Amino acid sequence: MFLSGKRALVTGSTSGIGLAVTRALHAEGADVVLSGFGDEDEIAKLQKELSASYSGADLSTTEGVAQLMEEAGDVDILVNNAGMQFVSPVEDFPPEKWNKIISLNLSSAFLTSHHAVPYMKKAGWGRIINTASAHSKVASPYKAAYVAAKHGLAGLTKVLALELAEHNVTANCISPGYVWTPLVENQIPDTMKARNMSREDVINEVLLDSQPTKKFVQPEEIGAMAVFLCRDEAQNINGANWSVDGGWTA
Ligand code: NAD
Repeated sequence: MFLSGKRALVTGSTSGIGLAVTRALHAEGADVVLSGFGDEDEIAKLQKELSASYSGADLSTTEGVAQLMEEAGDVDILVNNAGMQFVSPVEDFPPEKWNKIISLNLSSAFLTSHHAVPYMKKAGWGRIINTASAHSKVASPYKAAYVAAKHGLAGLTKVLALELAEHNVTANCISPGYVWTPLVENQIPDTMKARNMSREDVINEVLLDSQPTKKFVQPEEIGAMAVFLCRDEAQNINGANWSVDGGWTA
């Protein structure tokens, strides 16, 4: 229970990867804060399971992030994970979707860090972990906003790493390949449309085609990596972008 006494905020933790990371940090003794949207009863169940507080703030707005950080209080571990996807050829990509994805997938990580860093510096310890993506390193067609936001998130992480290095605060990215979560499931219909393919073909010829293992990554694997980055043994891992993608970006 090496994280006893530490408080962890994982954005977008009501589902998928964020929930797995929250469970993994909680299992090591961290006091956890849940964030995101979802069914009220399901969230109440999760709060009970994890003895967690919860904020339903919309992190695609500056005010929403400020509200989250106010509700979360001082955090020792910040995992910027909330994100969304939209799949469309660039000429049909609605500018409002572009703005929303940049706000949620990139700007929210700057804003949470902006709020969280003063306490981490004062405490002399901190961990910022950003859920980036294989798409922070390589591109795919039809994902203009997502790929741009994730490349930006990798850049932001490096700046945080340099600025905070002397304060015993590290900042790193974890970059998963395809993980079977609602975010992936929900992009299948638009990908079917953009590529004129069946559901089966999208799963095997688009999603798993990129992943040499031909298998989805499990959310728990991302949780385990996040826990490792919180350990003292990881104190010199700073500004790194860890792929957990079955070899996709090799
Ligand atoms: P998910 O859809 O299961 O979870 C997304 C979380 O973000 C949910 O808790 C949701 O409520 C929350 N969220 C969405 N919009 C929000 C908003 N406006 N304000 C606050 N919270 C909001 O998706 P996931 O696959 O677990 O994705 C988590 C992160 O992992 C994302 O940043 C995603 O880009 C990244 N990622 C996912 C995969 C994958 O294959 N699933 C691969 C690489 C990276």
